[in-house]
Amino acid sequence: MAHILEERQNQVSTAGANERTIDCNKASLAGSVSQRACVFCGSRVVLYPISDALHLIHGPIGCAAYTWDIRGSLSSGPELHRLSFSTDLQERDVIFGGETKLYSAALELIKAHKPNAAFIYSTCIVGVIGDDVERACRMLEAETGIPVIAVEAPGFQGSKKDGYKVACESIFKLVGRVNNPIPAKSINILGDFNLAGELWILLEYYKKMGVHVNATITGDGRVEAISNAHNAALNVVQCSGSMNYLAKLMKDKYDIPSMRVSYFGIEDMSDALYDVARFFKDDDMMEKARILVKEEISRMMPALAWYKERLTGKKAAIYVGGAFKAISLVKALRLIGVQSVIVGSQTGTPEDYELIKKLCDEGTIIVDDSNPIELSHFVKEKQADIFIGGVKERPIAHKIGLGFCDHNHERKEPLAGYEGMINFAKEIYATAMSPVWKFTK
Ligand code: SF4
Repeated sequence: MAHILEERQNQVSTAGANERTIDCNKASLAGSVSQRACVFCGSRVVLYPISDALHLIHGPIGCAAYTWDIRGSLSSGPELHRLSFSTDLQERDVIFGGETKLYSAALELIKAHKPNAAFIYSTCIVGVIGDDVERACRMLEAETGIPVIAVEAPGFQGSKKDGYKVACESIFKLVGRVNNPIPAKSINILGDFNLAGELWILLEYYKKMGVHVNATITGDGRVEAISNAHNAALNVVQCSGSMNYLAKLMKDKYDIPSMRVSYFGIEDMSDALYDVARFFKDDDMMEKARILVKEEISRMMPALAWYKERLTGKKAAIYVGGAFKAISLVKALRLIGVQSVIVGSQTGTPEDYELIKKLCDEGTIIVDDSNPIELSHFVKEKQADIFIGGVKERPIAHKIGLGFCDHNHERKEPLAGYEGMINFAKEIYATAMSPVWKFTK
């Protein structure tokens, strides 16, 4: 594989005969042009859906523009999160410091928008000039009476994954600030970002099972519920790459257990519901989960069979942020007859890749922290029919003349839950079978 940089050879493996342990969980190789985003972007995407908070980006306007309205996260109430505020640092601020500008901008915005909390993000240049954002936040909190949290995320400090950790630390600063009574069988949902309203589908399932959902972190998130998150009995973590660290912080301080789930595909969705019922050791809850799963599966199976008949033999390339999602996608694609020939992630752990290797067919390319050159080569080599990824993979697919399915921030169709599985099959079918691709080959 000549297109793989020498230093990255161990980050690629092939399932079956030539498989090797994937070297992962490390900084991107300089010059490799990783698909990962910067630390600031990582923190911003996680905190973005907290819709009654003010998000102020301390830095040049470009950082704010880059992440403006970055997710398709819907809110059932306030929509302050969809605005992008910036201190628009200029040359003069870089020379003399931007703290005063930050303080007055934040104060003006808090007075104008009356948020329930404010997140102030540091960007690369702030890390370079050394503005004391923590001090500005302390002063603002004393002046306004709302939590004002410094998100110390200069982009150059690492990669998107480090930004997830910064976001978790910032959310954790909110947790424990209020003590509202909630039912005993309460959970927090961590790592669902309510893309296209997916969270609302899950809430409906949990409601039918008799599970109370306390805080949703961060999809359709609210400051007060997050501040009360320490009172839930269980943290149910979906996007484990972004939220495992918050679950760990809450376990260490408040002794709240957590479980890792995925809401994509029939198997993983059903397991997510059963695992919660199992955790509460509640027979009635388990019975309700069984009824729900049975009803949903019998409703959707005829439709899935229709897609499977037509899609069998198609090949998919998967490259997503979190490896847990990649695992669910392999299973979901198999259900509709599609074989996964490339499976990669930006943030997978050794355990994730071991699982992927076991799950995939022989010959599947498994890759960590890939780049456009590698991905283009893999896709051509394996003759994939469709590429499933995020915003930065779309141009790779389209330049090669390949169908693309957005399974990341911007999508407009919910792909989680049972109804999401049908939408997923529909989208894969419509894209992979489109007659347009015969003109691009
Ligand atoms: S890398 Fe630095 S300058 Fe670029 S968006 Fe991230 S924080 Fe801003």
